[in-house]
Amino acid sequence: MKFVSVLVILFVYANADMARFDNYRVYTVTIENEEQYKAMKYLEENSDAYDFWKSPKINGKADIVVPPHKFADFEVVASNLNMQAEIIIENLQRLIDEERPRNKQPKAADADALDLGWDDYHTLEEIYDWLDEMKEAYPQYINVTTIGYSSENRPIRLLSLSKKPGNRAILIEGTIHAREWISPATATYILYQLLTSEDPEIVDIATNIDWHFIPVINPDGYTYTWTTNRNWRKTRAPVSMLCFGVDGNRNFEYNWLRADETGDLGGSKVPCTDTYAGAYPYSEPETRATEGFLNTHASTIDAFLALHSYGHLFLHPWGHTIVPPTTVDELGGVGRAAAAAILAVNGIQYTVGSSNGVLYASTGTSRDHTYGHHHIPISFTVEMRGNGPYGNYGFFLPAEYILPNAQEVIKGFIALIHRAREFGRFPIN
Ligand SMILES: [Zn+2]
Repeated sequence: MKFVSVLVILFVYANADMARFDNYRVYTVTIENEEQYKAMKYLEENSDAYDFWKSPKINGKADIVVPPHKFADFEVVASNLNMQAEIIIENLQRLIDEERPRNKQPKAADADALDLGWDDYHTLEEIYDWLDEMKEAYPQYINVTTIGYSSENRPIRLLSLSKKPGNRAILIEGTIHAREWISPATATYILYQLLTSEDPEIVDIATNIDWHFIPVINPDGYTYTWTTNRNWRKTRAPVSMLCFGVDGNRNFEYNWLRADETGDLGGSKVPCTDTYAGAYPYSEPETRATEGFLNTHASTIDAFLALHSYGHLFLHPWGHTIVPPTTVDELGGVGRAAAAAILAVNGIQYTVGSSNGVLYASTGTSRDHTYGHHHIPISFTVEMRGNGPYGNYGFFLPAEYILPNAQEVIKGFIALIHRAREFGRFPIN
């Protein structure tokens, strides 16, 4: 019944109800003064028309999606503010149309059955089926569990890899932001390398460290980006009469919505915004499920790495203050080691620093929570590829860059682990 299955695929993935972004532009604006900053913050919080891919930061930049009917307004705003605005993407829909390979070769008959295929992105079902296949292939090392269910009742699955008792562990969090497709693609690639690579450095970290992967912590949002709106970020819980979704990465408890030195809350109280922090910490089943796992496992975990896009950043705590954390020497040291290793692979330059200092204020993030509340000593948000020397794609990175991104990031993680061992982490037992 091949004909039927082709029709089904067309219905699901070329759905006529899929949101379109024809001729939408992405502008990068350079924010040089308080007036520009305040205006952009106001726009972010009060206008439905503009979508801030990157929130404003003083003496920094913001990336803003602007629909065609707002081009004229937006350019007047920029001009009145004397603010430099550059178009970095001319037609957002074209990026979505070209993100996945057009002429995909069917998998060769002799291909490795465990090769998920990192020449394309994969649906939640494909990823979950693949986790089961990995468990079947390596039952002696792998455990797959469901740590909870999303608000639409999809399982949140966690895969654990352990080759010997007594190891310290790493937790990899993927896809808390639904549209950051490079996140699950990279998480699955790293797992595959840990199980199949013969590179001695990878064999070492696969053998002497336990690994926990939550490849898709926000399964509702991720599914929604495949069926309805490729540009969706949050969860899918109804949060007001008009809007859906909480930003899972603003919904953890530690310093939830605590203002930084400039008064920035690091998240929003407004349900319709993209950084809505929820009505209270752990209002969402996705963050509660993660917290349940952390409560039983955090004491065995030395590193927490949350995979995001985009920006080429290794961000350590804090998000709620510019004051550096007490262990900034270790955090900065392991982060810089990772960045140097990544640079050596494909020449991509990562920036390392505190989230508030390098990016902008953020509160209720999983990273600050694992570090501040659970005392996981190495906690990072990793912002991977999106805009760079390979082109400007934002969240819609073409599938051909999955492998270069994943290969450089795994080198970064190896270097991070090596440097962390100098601080006494991941002892080889
Ligand atoms: Zn993100």
